[in-house]
Amino acid sequence: MEQDETLCRLESKVQALQTQLDAASAELHAYKILLNQRSAPESLIEDGNRSWPMALDEYQRYGRQMILPEIGLNGQLKLRNSHVLVVGAGGLGCPALTYLVGAGVGSIGIVDNDEVELSNGHRQFLHNRPGESKVDSCIRYMRQLNPRVAIQGFKTRLVPSNAFGIFASYDIVLDCTDGPATRYLISDVAVALRKPVVSGSALKLDGQLVVLCHNDGPCYRCLFPVPPPASTVLSCGEGGILGPVVGTIGVLQALACIHLLTSPETFTPTMLLFNASTFAPSFRTVRLRGRKADCPACGIKRITQSIIESEGSENSELCSADVPTVERTDRHVESIGAEEYNAVLQNRDHHVLLDVRDENQFAICALPNSHSMKILTSYLTDRSPTAPSYVKRSTNLCPGGQKCHDLCRVSKRQ
Ligand code: ZN
Repeated sequence: MEQDETLCRLESKVQALQTQLDAASAELHAYKILLNQRSAPESLIEDGNRSWPMALDEYQRYGRQMILPEIGLNGQLKLRNSHVLVVGAGGLGCPALTYLVGAGVGSIGIVDNDEVELSNGHRQFLHNRPGESKVDSCIRYMRQLNPRVAIQGFKTRLVPSNAFGIFASYDIVLDCTDGPATRYLISDVAVALRKPVVSGSALKLDGQLVVLCHNDGPCYRCLFPVPPPASTVLSCGEGGILGPVVGTIGVLQALACIHLLTSPETFTPTMLLFNASTFAPSFRTVRLRGRKADCPACGIKRITQSIIESEGSENSELCSADVPTVERTDRHVESIGAEEYNAVLQNRDHHVLLDVRDENQFAICALPNSHSMKILTSYLTDRSPTAPSYVKRSTNLCPGGQKCHDLCRVSKRQ
């Protein structure tokens, strides 16, 4: 009991100190910006006989990239005068933001409405305080990394009604999200506002990078005309993700953004595919066709702000993939929640509990007395004489195989 009180007291003390530290850091950041504004106005800095386009610390900060002929002083000034919006402060957003801030992009916006969770840590390395807003977490880190960058946070979910206002003051948008609905929305708004999108995605051991809505290149709707059924979309929480895989794509998004800002003439519409299933990961580049004339977004009849906003944020068939595109034929199968299932257990109701996840997830953690459908199916298919006894018991208990499969499909979707 005494230990608990000591723990609570120390945690409260640390929390209070963190709050003070955050406030002092914000004050310091504001003051540094003020100093920078005094020492580095938009025009040239006079220094005796010479005029300098940047302050001394900017030469020190960016010197290693400025000596590259591909960047140079002009490229650095282009970066400083640029405004980049990053939608999503997760596994893609963290590395992308880090490199953009480090490179000296003048103004960066972050859109995210999530809070930090312990499960984020293995890939979202800017976040270390569970429960904190991801936007606040990013801003704190970015200000320490480079106080010269102006940062604006948007703690909100991107929806049609706010997207145009948020996008308005940025030159390029980085799509670091993980949901199809938001991907279509970002692309559509970018088409309407004629802004390029650097789109990244990663799941399991695969990643993908593509620049959209730029020059005559395609938009997201050109590449994926039909939103996938919601039931087929896997999140990182369901499918899994390896930290360095999503980190690689996030870094490449920052790289593509820097190229677009400093040397846009080198752009060609391509899709980069990354696979890390072997010790030597592979990169493959696929040349893309230009935008489609019949595309409902970027085609001959270009999508407009009023069309996007009139579709609403939740029930849009145009902007949302959350609307299932297939009819469910198995509505007679009901789903139950955790509390209801606990009541089944308490009442000792006769039932068979099938776990439809893969064998790996089943091995990590499973409910008592549940049976892995994958393992069960493989034994049933092979008719192996070595099948564990519980498989034989399950087979006997549940002879209607098709009925089991129906149940599994529905369970997986919910
Ligand atoms: Zn298109």
